[in-house]
Amino acid sequence: MSNKAAPKMSSKECNCLCGAVSVTVSGVDKGAVLCHCTNCQKSSGSAFMHNYRFMKSDIKVHKGEDKIREFKDTNTKSRATLLRHFCSVCGSPLYVKPLAFEDLTIVHCSSAGDRTQPQFELFEENKHSWIGKLSSKRASL
Ligand SMILES: [Zn+2]
Ligand SMILES: [Zn+2]
Repeated sequence: MSNKAAPKMSSKECNCLCGAVSVTVSGVDKGAVLCHCTNCQKSSGSAFMHNYRFMKSDIKVHKGEDKIREFKDTNTKSRATLLRHFCSVCGSPLYVKPLAFEDLTIVHCSSAGDRTQPQFELFEENKHSWIGKLSSKRASL
């Protein structure tokens, strides 16, 4: 199950709801996770955030760099400061850079138009009780 394959590289284009911002994130593809922390719930406006993870990534802004705003989220469950980036026109969350893990970039699956099945869940103790158990049958390497 846990054999170490060569790192999978991929690239995702992320767009906000209004289309003012367009960003490409490229790097080592670590798949998707669901985050049930309160801050992700508030930031997403939903019951959880569906986060796609990249390691050693590059972010290229194609459009709307001046529209991107950064919220320094210091009151996190993991105690790691997160820089949450969003579009100042429509408010869509775009990507997150954790200050403590500079190799990691988190892209929100909605902005990336990504439907990758999450491999695991974070902060399940804060998960809404009506959400079922996530199956990780299709975990990718
Ligand atoms: Zn926008
Ligand atoms: Zn979270």
